[in-house]
Amino acid sequence: MTTRRSFLRATAGAGAGAALGILPATRLRGAPAVHLRRVTPVCIASGNGLTAVTRAMEVIHEEGDTLDAVLQGVTIVERDPEDTSVGYGGLPNLEGVVQLDSSIMHGPTRGAGAVASLEGIKAPSLVARDVMRYTDHVFLVGPGAQRFARSMGHPIEDLLTEEARRRWVEWRARLSDQDYFLTPEQTLHHLPDFCSGAGQGEGLLDSHDGMRPHGTIHCNVVNESGDLSGVTTTSGMAWKIPGRVGDSPIIGAGLYVDNDVGACGSTGRGEAVIKTVGSHAVVELMRGGMHPKDACLEALRRIVRFTIEPRLRDERGLPNFSVNYYAVNKKGEYAGAAIWAGARFAVSVDGDTRPEDSAYLFQPDR
Ligand code: ASP
Repeated sequence: MTTRRSFLRATAGAGAGAALGILPATRLRGAPAVHLRRVTPVCIASGNGLTAVTRAMEVIHEEGDTLDAVLQGVTIVERDPEDTSVGYGGLPNLEGVVQLDSSIMHGPTRGAGAVASLEGIKAPSLVARDVMRYTDHVFLVGPGAQRFARSMGHPIEDLLTEEARRRWVEWRARLSDQDYFLTPEQTLHHLPDFCSGAGQGEGLLDSHDGMRPHGTIHCNVVNESGDLSGVTTTSGMAWKIPGRVGDSPIIGAGLYVDNDVGACGSTGRGEAVIKTVGSHAVVELMRGGMHPKDACLEALRRIVRFTIEPRLRDERGLPNFSVNYYAVNKKGEYAGAAIWAGARFAVSVDGDTRPEDSAYLFQPDR
């Protein structure tokens, strides 16, 4: 299929100008030469966003709106019970209740919306969009956010899947040897069908034993005209204190979009991102002329400097957690970067969707 961009590119011919998305001078009779700038659209997301960027780019190629594109992408993941870090199937708080956070920003209209500690809605990003579209506010939380969502027609559903509940029960049992919660091994009642569904006992604890599993999806996009939008959505840190809000729904922390400059979002330890207003910092660094990769790495260095608590540092004095930024600028340059090596992010550009390695500050000791 010939897209408008590929047609424009073909007419521009291959060369440095085409590679930069700069079309040759179009001369109307008697008019001065006009240089039209076109951007190569690109959509990026956290590593769990390959399906999201694929869907978002389909919307962009159908000339859809940038916010619609990223929302159509991330809602696939929000509704997927297999992804335990986002939406339906997300891991619950310490009381076993799934509480979701999300924010959205629409570059062309400078719109923003967000929800936090939202219970019972599979796709909180769509409620964040409704906050932007149907209220004079930016941020709704808790029961008020849920009542608003219900009024907008979002069904209230049970978000705790059997798998998420099983992992929560296991975590609760290992909380302390001073409480009355016990594992089946301790009660000697290690029977195969203690939980319904998949056999419990084996494999209940994942590689996060001792650490709190977390995860999020962030997705942002720039289209051919240089318009930008972004969304971040999460169930936050597993086993969190009820009411805990991370960076994801906080405009400037887990997401920031300035249609004149670029977009950025984050995943990882939200507390560190909030304290450094991470995504806004990245966009401001890009405004100052930095490439997205350098801007992300500089914002990550600020987190390292802010991390002085011994409990959050390893033997080398470095953060014992990671944070990832995903940034795209108005020219279509993009990057993912993390504190620690090994992270990947999802990219869709030029008809190709792939994971790419994130830039990083540190490599773990071998
Ligand atoms: N940033 C999310 C939060 O702190 C969690 C994550 O991305 O892993 O809520």
